[in-house]
This record gives sequence, C-alpha cells and structure tokens, in this order.
Amino acid sequence: MNTRVILALGSNLGERSDILANAVADLVDHPHVRLREVSPVVQTKAVGGPEQPDYLNMVVEIETDLEPYALLAHCQAVEAKHHRTRTVRWGARTLDVDIITYGDLEINAPELTLPHPRAHERAFVLQPWAWMDSTAVLAGRPVAELAAEADDLAGLKPFEGAV
Ligand code: AMP
Repeated sequence: MNTRVILALGSNLGERSDILANAVADLVDHPHVRLREVSPVVQTKAVGGPEQPDYLNMVVEIETDLEPYALLAHCQAVEAKHHRTRTVRWGARTLDVDIITYGDLEINAPELTLPHPRAHERAFVLQPWAWMDSTAVLAGRPVAELAAEADDLAGLKPFEGAV
C-alpha cells in the first residue's frame, strides 16, 4: 500500500540549488517512489555552530510502498552520494535529507523518529511545506500556524534563484 511521506532537504555547501534539484531527482529515481509535490525553495540562516553559508531548504511530498526503514536507507544513500561528490572542508552540509512524516505513523527510535521530533518548531521545514500544501497538518495543528510561531522564521526568505 502506498503511503504519503514528507521529506525535508537542506544544503549549505557547494552548488546548493543544483544539489537540491539533483537530490530530488535521485530520491524519486526509484521504482517504489513517486513524486507528488515540490515546495518552493527557501534561504535560511544557519542556526548555531560556526559561521556558515545560508542554507537552501525545501520539502517534497512523495508516495511510496517502501517500509519506513527502507525509505530511510534510500534517503541516506542519496545523502552519501552527494557527500562523496564534494570536498567538505568545514562543518557545513552538502545535503541533509530528513523524513518529516510517514503517513500518520509514529515511531520512537533513535535511528528513526516519526514525525521528525524537531519539525514542528523549524520554519525552514514548516514554511515551504505550508506554501506547498496550505491544508497540511502536523501533530494536530495547521503547518502554516506552526510556521508563523517558529523562532527561526525571521531568518527565512524565498530563494530567488532557479532550482
Ligand atoms: P542528521 O545528522 O541530523 O542528518 O541525523 C541523522 C541521524 O538521525 C541518522 O542516524 C538517522 O538514523 C537519525 N534519524 C532519526 N529520525 C530521523 C528522521 N525522521 N529522518 C532522518 N533521520 C532520522
């Protein structure tokens, strides 16, 4: 049976918009994954850590019959592919892929926590998600409302370049 899944992608190193576009293509280049929707890309200030380039973030909605852990492995394989193609010289991320929701499934394990435990407070996940799907709900609350309350909303703006 197919399940609808929200994935969040972020990059703050290298050709960020190319990396995101290629990562979306790689994520859906799988016989058990189908792309449903793609959010706008947002540019966000890196929170904490050393001085870093801004992040580009986006979310996608896919449909899959992969089990949650098989989907996680697929996401990690796509991350690894992009990490290998760059020389990472500092703590910035070439590509980060998180599973935000997997249908209504709840899992509470260190390797996979669903819904993602910090998604409800991250504007860089919530705002592109709300723009993609104005009816989206997370933990019983409209995603647009959660986005409006997120601390990091002020550091977020639409990315003007192409992805
Ligand atoms: P990060 O360094 O933030 O990309 O975290 C990666 C680690 O978080 C991996 O070891 C995953 O097994 C774990 N993890 C737990 N829940 C999730 C989730 N919902 N999506 C992606 N990774 C997760």
